[in-house]
Amino acid sequence: MKLINHFINGAHYQGQEKNTVEVFNPATGEVAARVALASKQETEEAIRVATEALSSWSNTPPLKRARVMFKFKELLEKHIDDLASMVTSEHGKVFSDAKGEIARGIEVVEFACGIPQLLKGEYTEQVGTGVDSYSVRQPLGVCAGITPFNFPVMVPMWMFPMAIACGNTFILKPSEKDPSASLLMADLLKEAGLPDGVFNVIQGDKTAVDTLLSDPRVSAISFVGSTPIAEYVYKTGTQYGKRVQALGGAKNHLVVMPDADIEQAVDALMGAAYGSAGERCMAISVGVVVGDIADQLVARLIERTTELKIGNGIVNEPDMGPLVTGAHLEKVKGYIEKGVSEGASLIVDGRNISVAGHENGFFIGGCLFDHVTPDMTIYKEEIFGPVLSIVRVDDFESAVQLINAHEFGNGVSLFTRDGHTAREFSTRIQVGMVGINIPIPVPVAFHSFGGWKRSLFGDHYAYGTEGVRFYTHLKTVTTRWPTDTRSGAEFTMPVMK
Ligand code: NAD
Repeated sequence: MKLINHFINGAHYQGQEKNTVEVFNPATGEVAARVALASKQETEEAIRVATEALSSWSNTPPLKRARVMFKFKELLEKHIDDLASMVTSEHGKVFSDAKGEIARGIEVVEFACGIPQLLKGEYTEQVGTGVDSYSVRQPLGVCAGITPFNFPVMVPMWMFPMAIACGNTFILKPSEKDPSASLLMADLLKEAGLPDGVFNVIQGDKTAVDTLLSDPRVSAISFVGSTPIAEYVYKTGTQYGKRVQALGGAKNHLVVMPDADIEQAVDALMGAAYGSAGERCMAISVGVVVGDIADQLVARLIERTTELKIGNGIVNEPDMGPLVTGAHLEKVKGYIEKGVSEGASLIVDGRNISVAGHENGFFIGGCLFDHVTPDMTIYKEEIFGPVLSIVRVDDFESAVQLINAHEFGNGVSLFTRDGHTAREFSTRIQVGMVGINIPIPVPVAFHSFGGWKRSLFGDHYAYGTEGVRFYTHLKTVTTRWPTDTRSGAEFTMPVMK
């Protein structure tokens, strides 16, 4: 059985093999490999190595760091199919979708190539007579990234290209459900010329995470995953004095106004609810239909959801692959049962589909609920599967109030033809990423990604200029080069003279 291991100090690192868990091929349901779970000591070895590599890397000129990123980008493009097939075979998402996530990750690497410009500070001559001031951004130290299963390439690449380009060293703790891509990214960084010890991978679970959170040599933690763990990571990491950004779960709504183009809205709902089998933090899981278009819209959704092509994501480009694990499939089915028992109308039930030749795969078809109300579990909680809930409301005002009352505030979308409604919506909605006639408004790399409310703990969003701020300290230097005349001690607050 293949054993997936760690990457420390520029080399694949054989763990103790004491503690391992299964990695599945979700399309067949078979165990494809086992992954090592790092012990405290193994995690500390990665921290030691990253600490040692810090002095030299943080003193490497930004232009040289950028050149490693340029080379890394080239290698990612060359190996995009290799990375995508690893993602599809462990996560289950369709191959073209896996390539899409890698392309979005590469955008962050492209942004990081501009690091000499991004790290340029500010200089002011004569802040006082004979006194000048300048500010610089300096690296934090050893940074760690803890990432979820649903984007095994893109989410780590929201973090480490920015951290490394800013002069930090990095330890990635990927999801244990789809760990292979992390090692290929490590190999490519090495091939790109990154010095040993600057990027390390620790496979693991809570033991590795808790070691990273409490070790004083780690300066900052970036986390992406579910809200309960995000909150735990934020509270624990900050308690140990670290800078922490922790991105959590979501329940994203798409509002369809009566003036919207219904076919466009249906296309948007289908792609955003069922793409990647709903396992996206920006997936749309609630369709909010305003006014009397609901029957017409729901009728079209029933047709389209029933027609969804489900299969192995590596062959023939289906619309949806399997869910990541059998346990996750059971969790999603549990939510569907709950929705039915709490009184929602299950108008498309995808629970009993079977994919020929893949009878043991973790497949579920698209599911559609109508007449969902805000008190139901399927409305309140994140399901993270191909389940779309339709909530019917009378007017725009009710739609805004509904969304603003939800505990999550990651993404949201509005479909309308009216500019005033769109403007009102984007101004008043309490959500971090807003799409107007865009179903999945994931910001490009030169903007920044992050939600509001319980979708993000911390003060910095991911990548873009927020990423530069997160991974650097700001230092402001005020200088005077006095002549021979002494001005004597001053006991009052210095003011401009
Ligand atoms: P998860 O919270 O189960 O796991 C995330 C990471 O935390 C993994 O590396 C895992 O090993 C680790 N972990 C799990 N339990 C832990 C514990 N008790 N202590 C310490 N570490 C622990 O999330 P997941 O199931 O891998 O990913 C899906 C979730 O991620 C969804 O909620 C989704 O919305 C969220 N997500 C959010 C964003 C965002 O940007 N807001 C992006 C992608 C995914």
